[in-house]
Amino acid sequence: MTEPLTDAARLERHRRLAAADHRHLWHPFTQMQDWLEEDPLIIDRAEGVELIDTLGRRYLDGVSSLWCNVHGHRVPALDEAVRAQLDRVAHSTLLGLASTASIECAEELMRHVPAPLTRVFFSDAGATAVEIAIKLAYQHFQLRGDGERKEFVSIAGGYHGDTIGSVSVGGIDLFHRIFKPLLFDVHHAPQPYCYRCPLGKALPACAMACAGEVEAIFAARPGKIAALVVEPLVQGADGMITQPPGYLRRLRELCDRHGALLVCDEVATGWGRTGTTFAVEQEGVVPDLMTMAKGLTGGYLPLAATLTTEAIFESFLGTFESKRTFFHGHTYAGNPLGCAVATASMRLFRDHRIIEGLPARIEALRRALVPLDAHPHVGEVRQRGLMVGVELVRDRGRKAEYEYPLRVGHQVCLEARRQGVLLRPLGNVVVLMPPLAMTEAQLEALVAAVRSGVDAVTARV
Ligand code: PMP
Repeated sequence: MTEPLTDAARLERHRRLAAADHRHLWHPFTQMQDWLEEDPLIIDRAEGVELIDTLGRRYLDGVSSLWCNVHGHRVPALDEAVRAQLDRVAHSTLLGLASTASIECAEELMRHVPAPLTRVFFSDAGATAVEIAIKLAYQHFQLRGDGERKEFVSIAGGYHGDTIGSVSVGGIDLFHRIFKPLLFDVHHAPQPYCYRCPLGKALPACAMACAGEVEAIFAARPGKIAALVVEPLVQGADGMITQPPGYLRRLRELCDRHGALLVCDEVATGWGRTGTTFAVEQEGVVPDLMTMAKGLTGGYLPLAATLTTEAIFESFLGTFESKRTFFHGHTYAGNPLGCAVATASMRLFRDHRIIEGLPARIEALRRALVPLDAHPHVGEVRQRGLMVGVELVRDRGRKAEYEYPLRVGHQVCLEARRQGVLLRPLGNVVVLMPPLAMTEAQLEALVAAVRSGVDAVTARV
C-alpha cells in the first residue's frame, strides 16, 4: 500500500497536473480561452457511480462520463475481464485474422439485438460506426445495380459524430454550419421537436406533419434515396428531443414503401438508456443498419459496432476480382480488450436482469423531476427512460430562450458541481443521463442538485 498523500502534497500534485494540462491539452467541444482561465477539475479515480478528483472530492457521475458508463466504475466483473484479456493479448487485427475476443463478443451481441441483425462490423467510435453505416448503405445499392440510390435523408437537429460523413448527416447548426462546404448534400427533414415545432403545429391535430415532410422528400426523389439516418426515440445532442410515439415506426414504413434503408443510430440510446436494451424495440422497429458505441463496453473502452442484415451482407459477396469487398477498416477494429469488456458487460445485462430493474429507477427519476416541471423557468422536462433534458426558459408562457452568452445551462451545472454532482449541459438544456446502476436515492440526490442549481441561477440571471 502506498501512503495516502497529505493535503499539501495533494494540492501540489493537483497544481502540477493543472499547469501541464493548460500547457499541452486541447479539450473537445471546449472554448480553450475560458478553459485556460479556470482551475480544471481533474478526475483521478472512481468508485461505483462516483468520480473522485485530485483533491479527493467525490461527485455523482450525472451524465455517465459522456453517456457511456452503464454499471458504474470499477465494476469487479468488468475490471477482471480486462485483466484476463491483458493476460492473453491486448490487440490483434481483424484484417484477415480472427480473434477469440471479437468472436465471443459478436456471439453475445446477437443475444441482445433484434434477430434480423445478424452481422457486425466493429470499429472504435460512434462516429466511425455511422461512417460505416453510410458507406455500407451506399455501396449496397451500387453493388445491386441500383446506382442512382446515393442520396441520404436525415433529421434536423440530429447528431451522429464529428467526422465529415457523420457531420454530413448531422443537423446541429452550431456545430456543423462552418463545415458545410466540406460536407456531402443531405436532405434534412424537420425536427420532431413538439415543444418548439418548426412547422408551427401541435399534436394530435398535426398528425405528425414532420413525418409527412420526410415522405415528401422521398416522393420528390423517387429511386434516389439510399437511406434515412435517425437517432431513435431521442435526439440526444440537440437537447434530448423526444420523438412522439409512432414517429420511428412511421419512418420505417416510409423507408419500406420507397425502397430505402433505415439506419438507426443507437450510439446514445442503446444499452438500456431509454428503458429497453435498444430504443427501436419500443416502436417494434428493426432497422437495416444499427450503430452502437458508448455503452457497448459498459463505458470502459472505445469499441463500436455497425450491425446489419444478411441481405445487405450478401450484396458484398463475390469473387476477389469482382472487387465487391467493403474496403474499409480501422486499425483498432474489434480490439480484444474492448471486445472482452463488452462481452462481460452484456453478460451483466443478462445475469443481473438489468433491463427488468429499470422501470423502478425510471419512475423514481420521474417522481423526483415533478417539481422541476412546475418551475417558472423550466419550459419542458423531457424524459425517456434514464435520458432527461430540462429546458430552461426566461419566460415560460412565451417559451422565451435565455441568451446564448448567459450560458445558463453551464451555470446550473457549476452550481450542481458545488453540491457534488457532475453534469454537462447542451446550451440551455440541462442533461441528466445517469448510469443504469444509479440507485433511487442517488437519482434523487442528482435531481435535488439540479433543482437547487436551477433555483440559484434563474434567480440571478
Ligand atoms: N451518434 C450519437 C447519437 C451520439 O450521441 C454520439 C456521441 N454523443 C455519436 C454518434 C458519436 O459518438 P463518438 O463520440 O463515440 O464518435
